[in-house]
Amino acid sequence: QCAVVCPTGAIVVKDNTAEVWKALDDKNTKVTVQIAPAVRVGLGKELGLSDGENAMGKIVAALRRMGFDEIYDTSTGADLTVLEESNELLKRLEEGKQDMPLFTSCCPAWVRYCEKNYPELLPHVSTCRSPMQMFAAIIKEESKNSSRKAVHVAVMPCTAKKFEATRDEFKVNGIPNVDYVITTQELIQMIKESGIVFSELEPESIDMPFGTMTGAGVIFGVTGGVTEAVLRRIASDKSNTGLMSIAYKGVRGMEGVKETTIMYGDREVRIAIVSGLKNASDLIERIKEGEHYDFVEVMACPGGCINGGGQPFVPYEARVMRGKGLYSADKLCNIKRSEENPLMMSLYNGILKGRVHELLHVEYASKNQEG
Ligand code: SF4
Repeated sequence: QCAVVCPTGAIVVKDNTAEVWKALDDKNTKVTVQIAPAVRVGLGKELGLSDGENAMGKIVAALRRMGFDEIYDTSTGADLTVLEESNELLKRLEEGKQDMPLFTSCCPAWVRYCEKNYPELLPHVSTCRSPMQMFAAIIKEESKNSSRKAVHVAVMPCTAKKFEATRDEFKVNGIPNVDYVITTQELIQMIKESGIVFSELEPESIDMPFGTMTGAGVIFGVTGGVTEAVLRRIASDKSNTGLMSIAYKGVRGMEGVKETTIMYGDREVRIAIVSGLKNASDLIERIKEGEHYDFVEVMACPGGCINGGGQPFVPYEARVMRGKGLYSADKLCNIKRSEENPLMMSLYNGILKGRVHELLHVEYASKNQEG
């Protein structure tokens, strides 16, 4: 087994593919898997497709041949994150909070950086679990209905997600909701080891009962995507024109720092989008000096998860193609807003009833120790 190093410096991580193969070989184990948005545009080039090509259907086909029992899209978890994080933002706006912005929480390298360097800001970091963790909590609950042992795997563009999966905050009775995280590069290796000719696979669709997602969830994989998805949720104009106008409000593009504003009632909501931890640190210093924002999206990797440490390394132009690939995938989704995902209603009326805080939110232990 080899160890790889997270480029953000957060951790040294372990390759878990041997454990995943073992679980797949065990007929008494039900192995479920979720695939993060950025993975679909990050692995194709290594497997005979072009830069940024959306390979989601082929990934599903490959995972099915490898023996995974149920295959899902983390974009569904991102829809849950959009709903919960929008509620948090709206509550702050309605309470008229002006002190500090709400910081996003879906990037574990950013959360760790904040814990170490800015513990005083932790109360302003969203309590929402990341899409991976929200979705894993749901999938693990559903797996309780199976007589077989449940193992849940997440395919992520990210080495820091391996660390997130092992945090005590995401364990139930000492068992993590995500048993193993494999990176995009490790998935490529597993596909090659299987002897699958990836480029010739016919695309297949993800499974039910959690196989419904939206374009808002898919764009989480690129810098500005979380913000765009949240704006789709809170904007009063729900028309297609409204949707387009959000896209052209400065949320898209690979710049490390972007800013935009929207009106909520008669209040101007100020938003900053940063990728790269140096940019995050510079922005935080500006905020401490008195600059006001209501919402700040932070992604540790420049450009967001499309450029994650678990993805094959590519030059800048190819990263841009990956971002374009996600926006094209969003265009192909017939549902664009998270609140319109019919699965959300059934989750909130079912598994999540009375358990939203328990399954979708987190309080990091460091908040109590250092905050
Ligand atoms: Fe992981 Fe980078 Fe995405 Fe953060 S931005 S979740 S470190 S891939």
